Amino acid sequence: LSSRLNGVFDKLRRRGALSEADVNEALREVRIALLEADVALPVARDLINKVRERAVGAEVIRSVSPAQQVIKIVNDALVEALGGGEGGEAPDGFAPGLDLNAPAPLPILMVGLQGSGKTTTSGKIALRLRTRDKKKVLLASLDVQRPAAQLQLQTLAGQAGVTSLPIIPGQSPLEIAARAMDVARRELYDVVILDTAGRLSIDDALMEEVAAVKAATRPHHTLLVVDAMTGQDAVNTARNFQDRVGVNGIVMTRVDGDARGGAALSMRAVTGAPIRLLGAGEKLDALEDFHPSRIAGRILGMGDIVSLVERAAETIDRDEAEKLAAKMQKGQFDLEDFASQLKQVGKMGNLSGILGMLPGMGAMKDKIANAKIDDGMIGRQAAIISSMTRKERKNPDIIKASRKKRIAAGAGVTVQDVNRLLKQFDDMSAMMKRMNKLGQKGLMRGGLG
Ligand code: GDP
Ligand code: MG
Repeated sequence: LSSRLNGVFDKLRRRGALSEADVNEALREVRIALLEADVALPVARDLINKVRERAVGAEVIRSVSPAQQVIKIVNDALVEALGGGEGGEAPDGFAPGLDLNAPAPLPILMVGLQGSGKTTTSGKIALRLRTRDKKKVLLASLDVQRPAAQLQLQTLAGQAGVTSLPIIPGQSPLEIAARAMDVARRELYDVVILDTAGRLSIDDALMEEVAAVKAATRPHHTLLVVDAMTGQDAVNTARNFQDRVGVNGIVMTRVDGDARGGAALSMRAVTGAPIRLLGAGEKLDALEDFHPSRIAGRILGMGDIVSLVERAAETIDRDEAEKLAAKMQKGQFDLEDFASQLKQVGKMGNLSGILGMLPGMGAMKDKIANAKIDDGMIGRQAAIISSMTRKERKNPDIIKASRKKRIAAGAGVTVQDVNRLLKQFDDMSAMMKRMNKLGQKGLMRGGLG
């Protein structure tokens, strides 16, 4: 996905302006990318239309490339569709996690397809409420479909250190729910988690049963649990649960797998309910709050590049960057340029970030990270470079041992620090030459923008 998008954006960035044709071409690819991320077709279509409206005719911002603008517009639309506010920040009133602001015993009803992770998530929520929120939690399994289901929840309750409702064979889900609420009131529980039976697919009788339980217990949260791997079915499932039961929150499980999480977008779009929690593993402590910008990044497949782009747009001087890029390409990059880049990096806060942001550098990012470029060293490195003569900066090879000592003294560092800087510069120059050899000559054209 990411390489596909990089390709599009590389193309866009060479043109310099956002025309309708450019945007449409990019969005065709974005659409495929979204579908690959398991976003349901109608949901992907809506998002694309929204992005097109915003992108076409958008004034080209001088300090960023058209590519950056498209990345940002797609990303912002995704974040917004996932329930986030401007710039991926939580909007007013957005509270990830659960709202516990209701009279005890507060009922939470877990619904969803079989195997989506309802029972596991019930245990996870119980553990979190007990340990973090200091709540007295009662777990009750209403799953009378599978003989082992109630025992499974009992085991999880034990692991979470909370009580589970004693099992009485032969009771209906409605009877179990009533008993759970009754016990909770008498024994002063804060929260009652009602775990329901799984459905392999939407089943009328079971839907009615859940709806009846909901009517009887009036849950504060009715959480639709959905597997992140759910693809095009997500819309159907969500719509059915919303129409027939009514849900006011979504939990997405198995985000620890390689699913891109497009189901979250589909579910959110169809139900209008916020995604509240993420399941990130089989263990009970693998429960996370939902952050729209993180999942948006995952769906888009561009990791933290978007935020780097945002920061870069604010701090990188485009003209200077273009000059630098041209030099890099011609292999004329010297220590003076390195110093000026360090200054930019100082403003950005992260060197591997700035390099990772260069289009096509995604693949190089690991290498850069391995090179362990220490951001805390930036100030000292700048001092070392400024202690050199102009000639030395242009051609570091002429720096002999005696000069290294002088430079170190002038910069208030050790000779090892000077050597490290020279080595780093060598590595960087070598990397740039390699990149040029890789036939990525067009890579830097247009600068960092
Ligand atoms: P239910 O039928 O909806 O109650 O689903 P279960 O809670 O029984 O979960 C089905 C399977 O999915 C179990 O093997 C769980 O261990 C596993 N599972 C649940 N949540 C997660 C998760 O977030 N990550 C991973 N990797 N596995 C999970
Ligand atoms: Mg279950």
